[in-house]
Amino acid sequence: MKTVLLIDDDKVLRHVLSTWLRAAGWSVHEAQDGEQGLELAFAIKPQVILVDLLMPRVNGFQVCRSIRSRKDILPKVRIVVTTGSGYTTDRLNALEAGADDYLVKPINPEDLSRLLDGHLPPRNGVTDAALVGDLGRSPSSAHTASQTLIRFWGVRGSIPTPGPSTVFYGGNTSCVEVRTMGEIIVLDAGTGIRPLGLALEKEFGEKPIRCTVLISHTHWDHIQGFPFFVPAYNHRNIVRILGFEGARQGLESTLSAQMESPYFPISMQQMPGHIEINELKNFHFEIGPVPVQAELVNHPGICTGYRISSAAGGICYLPDIELFQRLRSQSNKDKEHLAFAQAQDEKLLHFIKDAAVLIIDSQYDAEEYAHHVGWGHSCVEDAVDLALSANVQHLFLFHHDPIHTDEEISRLVAKARAIVLERGSKMVVEAAREGTELILHPTEAEVSETEVV
Ligand SMILES: [Zn+2]
Ligand SMILES: [Zn+2]
Repeated sequence: MKTVLLIDDDKVLRHVLSTWLRAAGWSVHEAQDGEQGLELAFAIKPQVILVDLLMPRVNGFQVCRSIRSRKDILPKVRIVVTTGSGYTTDRLNALEAGADDYLVKPINPEDLSRLLDGHLPPRNGVTDAALVGDLGRSPSSAHTASQTLIRFWGVRGSIPTPGPSTVFYGGNTSCVEVRTMGEIIVLDAGTGIRPLGLALEKEFGEKPIRCTVLISHTHWDHIQGFPFFVPAYNHRNIVRILGFEGARQGLESTLSAQMESPYFPISMQQMPGHIEINELKNFHFEIGPVPVQAELVNHPGICTGYRISSAAGGICYLPDIELFQRLRSQSNKDKEHLAFAQAQDEKLLHFIKDAAVLIIDSQYDAEEYAHHVGWGHSCVEDAVDLALSANVQHLFLFHHDPIHTDEEISRLVAKARAIVLERGSKMVVEAAREGTELILHPTEAEVSETEVV
């Protein structure tokens, strides 16, 4: 006689199924949790196991894995997951754990009968389209194709900080949109990329969206919005992601990892948009006709700053950086250390020289920095000094500390402006603010000093 083992903590369902299976000629055994189910499975060696997913002690995924790991005892058993979960990701995980089939409760005896007779229902995957909400904000700018547009969607560092005390500058993490020479370039994929995605969908309607996301580094505040980037869920769209390999693993692995099932219900591979992840090797590359330079900066792990040579001049983005001179002067004042620090900062100065716009980490003021040495971020005083020395035209203080209220950020802006005034410069300084748009007019294109690869 054919033997089936039912593993389910739902007594009523076990009763219904066993009655039906007995009537269909099966010898039925029952277990009320995964642990008991495993013991029975290895003892009675059934032909078929029906197992629920969500059970006390040992869950259904673990049951599947444990049984498949003991092919010596149960080489051919057929495992059918019977579950209340209709999520695609649970289905895929169950199959990956070793299940042969997946039935969503309530279970129709006819479906089960067909399945046990070998006529299997399709294992179709469904995308959880309802996952992404709708809180759109439409772009207001009237920028034209010949102009360059910069729009801030996320300006906060480290972690999103919604609430009444941050409502003016905004609480979303890093995301800046740059449009130039027909390209849409998205700098980082912090939580600000979510409202950007909704705005793009609204703007493009039925037309396909093609954009490039440049990742500075994979710290959470720079990538955590990507799973909510609506254009990545539409097969019409092409989303290219560029960045450098991280300290421990490649860009693609890190980006995919944050969407693995313990963290998120849809994997990156399941996103229906055309998503292309290209790991950069060269520090000079092009996005369409737009030349871009990269520079590795001082920040834990691998972190990159970018210089986009837009039609309106250089746009430099250095969201996370701890400038060397102040850092080293705190710990070691000997000549060699200070000379090294100076040389590193000068390299950076060269990188941002004569930029039209500089967006740079200004998380603290000098006093606060003294309590955060080695945390990977800079202070307003150094950001202003660097920008002035590099002859930058427009400076945006960026990566605001999560603890800073609107009032405190405004205090930092006042401090920055006082330094500019004192130095007799006309450089414009402001704190990056969600929703701020800057339209730049064409200028003589930047001359790239090195070969574009
Ligand atoms: Zn950051
Ligand atoms: Zn970081």
